[in-house]
Amino acid sequence: AADNVKASNVAKIKVVVRKRPLNKKELAKNDEDIIETYSNSLVVHETKLKVDLTEYVEKHEFVFDAVLNEEVSNDEVYRETVEPIVPIIFQRTKATCFAYGQTGSGKTYTMKPLPLKAVRDILRLMHHTYRNQGFQLFVSFFEIYGGKLFDLLSDRKKLCMREDGKQQVCIVGLQEYRVVDVETIKELIERGNATRSTGTTGANEESSRSHAILQLTIKRSADGSESKPPRVVGKLSFIDLAGSERGADTTDNDKQTRMEGAEINKSLLALKECIRALDNDQGHIPFRGSKLTEVLRDSFVGNSRTVMISCISPNSGSCEHTLNTLRYADRVK
Ligand code: ADP
Ligand code: MG
Repeated sequence: AADNVKASNVAKIKVVVRKRPLNKKELAKNDEDIIETYSNSLVVHETKLKVDLTEYVEKHEFVFDAVLNEEVSNDEVYRETVEPIVPIIFQRTKATCFAYGQTGSGKTYTMKPLPLKAVRDILRLMHHTYRNQGFQLFVSFFEIYGGKLFDLLSDRKKLCMREDGKQQVCIVGLQEYRVVDVETIKELIERGNATRSTGTTGANEESSRSHAILQLTIKRSADGSESKPPRVVGKLSFIDLAGSERGADTTDNDKQTRMEGAEINKSLLALKECIRALDNDQGHIPFRGSKLTEVLRDSFVGNSRTVMISCISPNSGSCEHTLNTLRYADRVK
């Protein structure tokens, strides 16, 4: 990869779709793969019923920046999505990579290896291209659950957010670790992910109701040495979003579930609007719509870049959710 790539040469918004393979359960049920993929487009084959109950297939075509089929490895996903934006965070740019999709579509599988691969490249840049220039790398990892913030590197300690009036987001008490080698980050990612899925009740499905946010921050001391407190130069955020189908839990019998569903729905809608505003260079960014977008506000102003990875399941049983995911991705662009 080119280390000296200019931010202005990197698209402001990139939308990529990743299709996972059929899993054992789906194969055992003889569930059909209804997604036909091409390099940057795909066709969904939706089976519908006529009034006389005979079946017919409706085809839906979508075009994106790239479509990654079930044979594409995590390494290739990295090369297509995050690798191009790594060099620009040394150039006062904030970049964000989202994984969007229904529960079980592959968001965590896709997102989990990306920060580690990014750290490898960032450290390589710091040790070669930007050698002895006083850059330092930090990591934090937290989640938004029911509109509240929890530190995933501090036993889910509850956090609160403060605005500093200079468009910088300040999350009070958030643990930030300095990263000097790949081992550190590996361990922190494992720890954060384990903290996330256990949740408060230990129910694994809780992770599908939370947004997990891992942030890599590049800082630098004013004089390039390490004697003065460093300032933020750039940021790279990885967001494993709540299951997109959870936003529809607003009619659930359980009040708690309904409230969480409403919050997820609100945040995914606000996110779409913020990304769209980013592309249109509108003065007004509607980040006040939700906790998620408020937390990310400094990544939605000025010179920022966004990569959206929309994860889809291939089976016919997921058709409706898949179409919803693809329509959302289509609106973002
Ligand atoms: P989500 O986070 O969207 O709920 P997961 O990432 O947990 O979904 O994926 C669901 C299951 O499918 C996991 O067992 C995961 O290992 C598997 N999986 C997802 N994507 C792929 C893929 N591209 N190749 C192989 N297995 C996958
Ligand atoms: Mg997940």
